[in-house]
Amino acid sequence: MSEFDLIRTHFAALGTSRADVLLGVGDDCAVLAVPAGQRLAVSIDTLASGVHFLADCDAEAIGHKSLAVGLSDLAAMGAEPAWATLALTLPAGLPAAAPDWLADFARGFGRLAQAYGVSLVGGDTTRGPLSITVQVHGFIPAGAEVRRGGARPGDLICVSGTLGDAGLALRALLAGQLPLPTLRARLERPTPRVGLGLALRGRASAMIDVSDGLAADLGHILTASGLAGALDLAALPLSDAVAAAVQTTGDWSLPLASGDDYELCFCLPSVDRDRLADIGARCGCPLTVIGRVERGSGLICTTPAGAPFALAHAGFDHFASPGAYDAS
Ligand code: ADP
Ligand code: MG
Repeated sequence: MSEFDLIRTHFAALGTSRADVLLGVGDDCAVLAVPAGQRLAVSIDTLASGVHFLADCDAEAIGHKSLAVGLSDLAAMGAEPAWATLALTLPAGLPAAAPDWLADFARGFGRLAQAYGVSLVGGDTTRGPLSITVQVHGFIPAGAEVRRGGARPGDLICVSGTLGDAGLALRALLAGQLPLPTLRARLERPTPRVGLGLALRGRASAMIDVSDGLAADLGHILTASGLAGALDLAALPLSDAVAAAVQTTGDWSLPLASGDDYELCFCLPSVDRDRLADIGARCGCPLTVIGRVERGSGLICTTPAGAPFALAHAGFDHFASPGAYDAS
């Protein structure tokens, strides 16, 4: 299969067809129309084999996740997804050695794109070690983006969903064990909280998606806002499996510092506390108040017993941490 056959077969019409795509896959550039009054929000992420996913990970899951991580960034700004571009680097053996690999990858990517109204409008396809880069583009009404730096003293610190599920699944996989299917799905097929991000536009004072661990990502909000945070660990929303792991080990790093949660962490003026349950119900994911923004700097965590908890490592950092997917 030539490069052009491959693009035509798998990527020419992936996702939703949209009227604002004036020219999509097939020419030197895509030509796109941003609606009047809207601003373009853009984010790019790379998934590299052995760094962001295990080499034997299912291709459909890789396709899903490579788009999901970008949609999660759009969600964290309050942006509405519109377009994606895809740079794919494939090892010499692919797709010949794994004829279904590209079809499976495209299915995972395409399904998620359909679900969120995203059109794949272009990309690049090259040979090399397996690596996937996706750029996402979304719309935000002028001035309505939710930045990291807008938190105010007294705001509630809130988080969607549950924390640490993906981290627990990864721990099991690296130990050669099979994770629970629900946990594995959280690692390999995260659900970007796009509807929630839109619902929080004009409400949340600051927002971030939790990709590197809650402590690190909330830390970015606090640093950008020039404020401190007090976290009540007893309030963290945990699945039964993560709660049991924390109970057994007494180690809170699983919900605080393992990556790949793809939940939204946001700050909310305390007068809006009563609206949280309703917003969560409308968006189909539970929302939990886990702490409060305070004057000062840094993040203070208090255990259910009332003791301070200090994290050894705040979260995943490609240049400071050992690779999350290195079994060694
Ligand atoms: P050029 O050499 O002019 O940069 P390419 O030959 O790389 O163009 O790509 C041809 C067309 O196919 C372009 O419209 C490009 O955006 C699209 N394309 C290439 N690879 C992909 C891909 N993996 N996914 C989606 N579109 C792709
Ligand atoms: Mg060209």
